[in-house]
Amino acid sequence: SQPLLKVRDLKTHFFTRAGVVQAVNGVSFEVMPGETLGLVGESGSGKTITVTSILRLLPRGAQILDGEVIFEGESILDKTEKEMESVRGKRIGLVLQNSMTALDPVFTIGTQITEPVVIHNRVSWREGWQRAVDLLRMVKIGAPEVRAKHFPHELSGGMRQRSASAAAIGPTPSLLIADEPTTALDVTTQRQYLELFKELQAQTGIAVIFITHDMSIVGNLCDRIAVFYGGHVVETGPKAEIFASPSHPYTQALLGAIPVLGEKVERLQSVDGEPPNPLHLPAGCPFHPRCASAMEICTSGDAPPAFQLHPEHQVRCWLLEAEDHAGDSVRDA
Ligand code: SF4
Repeated sequence: SQPLLKVRDLKTHFFTRAGVVQAVNGVSFEVMPGETLGLVGESGSGKTITVTSILRLLPRGAQILDGEVIFEGESILDKTEKEMESVRGKRIGLVLQNSMTALDPVFTIGTQITEPVVIHNRVSWREGWQRAVDLLRMVKIGAPEVRAKHFPHELSGGMRQRSASAAAIGPTPSLLIADEPTTALDVTTQRQYLELFKELQAQTGIAVIFITHDMSIVGNLCDRIAVFYGGHVVETGPKAEIFASPSHPYTQALLGAIPVLGEKVERLQSVDGEPPNPLHLPAGCPFHPRCASAMEICTSGDAPPAFQLHPEHQVRCWLLEAEDHAGDSVRDA
């Protein structure tokens, strides 16, 4: 089947007084209907700017310089702002890190779930409200008729995040972008939320882009992964394959940072060294200052091209060039 979303060579930079911030430098990936793609990487690696480019919600000073974003067969970058209003919320839902900022403190939960349904699906308020109550039930909020009349501060953090998710899927979008939705939750609530998230997806068949810096979440949730570094996708492929044999040194380091079951959750900061400054990206491979395998070719010129390991598994690392040949000779034998 056709991809639901296709991002090709996306390039987004920020023009600031301090210089040009090279946030996204030629990112490509696809999302198939109903699948979950995990965007992984440290903060500043370009994940969030990639999705804000897709939604055309970029902050001032940021500019999409190049590339293509095709969603449901339509070019997003060619749409007017007015046309984008019927894409955001209706066809692409968004769940953010902090449900407290996503939800408005002065309106009830029910109102905030009903409103987008009424606007986007053109139903009456009464029908929208009924859908809100059903959605609250779906996200496992007890006594949904009563809870719908509550304000965000009357709910626990976990319930708020589930309500915000209900609001995002209310208008039945085909794609949901979830940007670190569990970061503000404690570990137990986080686990419950992820379980719920999987159930919701199974029930609705919605495709998901899940942004996280936590590889254990990726392991739990995603079908495919795109690993971000220095504004590039340095490795992408099916989760099972990447977990079994990570091929980019950065992915290998990330997977080395996965907590053993039951131990304290360690984050990606345990990859040695500092992430690159997008104002001064290193020449060559952006990972070379932290890479134990760096060679001369890695330190100058352009970033390495994407080498194809399998039809769906690509890696931007010069080490794979050699392995590609090894692959050929195995096939020849
Ligand atoms: Fe390391 Fe070179 Fe591969 Fe970059 S291209 S990850 S520096 S080996």
